[in-house]
Amino acid sequence: MPIPAPAAAALRSRMFIGGDWRDAADGRKFAVYNPATGEEIAQVPQATAEDVDAAVAAARAALVAPAWAGLTPYARERIMSRLADLIEAHADELAHLETLNQGKLLPWSHAIEVGGSAQWLRYMAGWATKVEGSSFEVSIPFPPGTKYRTSTQRVPVGVVGAIVPWNFPLAMAMWKIAPALATGCTVVLKPAEETPLTALRLAELALEAGLPPGVLNVVTGDGETAGAALVRHPGVDKVSFTGSTEVGRLIGAQCGRDIRRVALELGGKSPVIVLDDVDVEAAVAGAAGAIFFNHGQVCTAGSRLYVAKKLYDKVVDGLAQVADGTVLGSGFDAQAQMGPMVSARHRDRVMTLMATGAAEGGEVVAGGRAGDGPGYFVRPTVVANTANKPLTLVREEVFGPVLVAMPYDDMDSVLQQANDSAYGLGASVWTNDLRRAQRAIDALQAGTVWVNTHNMVDPAMPFGGFKSSGVGREHGRSAIEAYTELKSVCIAY
Ligand code: NAD
Repeated sequence: MPIPAPAAAALRSRMFIGGDWRDAADGRKFAVYNPATGEEIAQVPQATAEDVDAAVAAARAALVAPAWAGLTPYARERIMSRLADLIEAHADELAHLETLNQGKLLPWSHAIEVGGSAQWLRYMAGWATKVEGSSFEVSIPFPPGTKYRTSTQRVPVGVVGAIVPWNFPLAMAMWKIAPALATGCTVVLKPAEETPLTALRLAELALEAGLPPGVLNVVTGDGETAGAALVRHPGVDKVSFTGSTEVGRLIGAQCGRDIRRVALELGGKSPVIVLDDVDVEAAVAGAAGAIFFNHGQVCTAGSRLYVAKKLYDKVVDGLAQVADGTVLGSGFDAQAQMGPMVSARHRDRVMTLMATGAAEGGEVVAGGRAGDGPGYFVRPTVVANTANKPLTLVREEVFGPVLVAMPYDDMDSVLQQANDSAYGLGASVWTNDLRRAQRAIDALQAGTVWVNTHNMVDPAMPFGGFKSSGVGREHGRSAIEAYTELKSVCIAY
């Protein structure tokens, strides 16, 4: 398939360090693919530890000269707002490039990757002028007769190493870049190896918006080399990671050893609980959206469905119909309702977990197979686990369009089942009964609990995980706190 013109205009194949386009120090490159066709789209540099070193040096230099943190907050806000304007002005390019590289439906690339990135930037730009400390009285009695004036101020944490996954490439990058820039930090971003392309174009637009060279650097490379070099680099003050729990554990351990600040946004196995008072049609639509959105490649995907026994058969039948009726295709195809998995490797992993679910006694009531074509398609799949067996599918994150459905008897047992997971990222409850909704909100161990909706995020609403789903919160005031150090000031007079 020829590369669509808007995407071709945005395609860059070198990395961005200190405002310059560079190849890897050893000249090596790796291929990037269109997951809807399996065709190669580009080759980008495979960054070495030496390249990461150069990017961190550029970010450190930009902290002090040309003094990104030293600009007035309003000056930072204006540059960030200009970048948001440029993102919108280049929406077509960025959205086409994201769909080409990630596979998601073009309208979602427009709404979430592009629209969401501009929204997050503007929201965080507004915070640049609102970072506050506090003043307070202390009671230090020595030396006699001495008074004290005490306060706190927030200072940028410094150089941020941002490592992001491939499911929402531009949006996940922006979740980290926007609060970092608002607070005066500088950034070395390592996009996922599958999806590095929109981040490169973003860095170029940032320079055009007036961001000084070195404030935002993008190194393309794999996790084991470039990612690991960034995590252990002594010039990085904070690592902000979004990705799998497995890699998060490695990164957390390394940062613990080095006493480096770290935020971890990790995996999930989010429950969707349908109570017995809801309209079946609404429950089916809600549960389908919770799991199949972005082809199931969502950290908060509602992948465990618990339905009140009296509605269970109807809801599962409805979901099977939705899954069977879903049209798969390229994200550029206006008829397509679901695109491909991001890579052949990921498709194979999803298929393996699906097969494990069936072998362990799950009943595949829809899907259960790969889609047609050279691209990496997987049919949306519904597995009924009517006997509530301890399937791998109930415990492990699939990160694909695979739902496992279970009936439940009463509220106590379903809340216990919902919490019986190593993860705690999101959960939703579907009901019109306010008292039972609040009971579920109180009981569910999850960073976000949705009622009669799922997967909704906003820059004002803190986001992060309980348990193995992570450490720290993004968005809102929490993000500003996460990208600053709190300094106490004590003046004797
Ligand atoms: P992954 O952990 O394999 O990779 C994520 C990023 O980490 C990539 O950029 C990769 O190159 C890098 N990386 C890999 N090994 C590394 C290492 N040793 N050191 C440093 N960096 C390394 O995850 P993935 O498969 O790309 O993404 C899917 C995962 O991300 C899922 O588990 C999903 O739940 C999670 N996720 C979480 C959130 C959230 O906010 N909680 C959001 C989106 C995705």
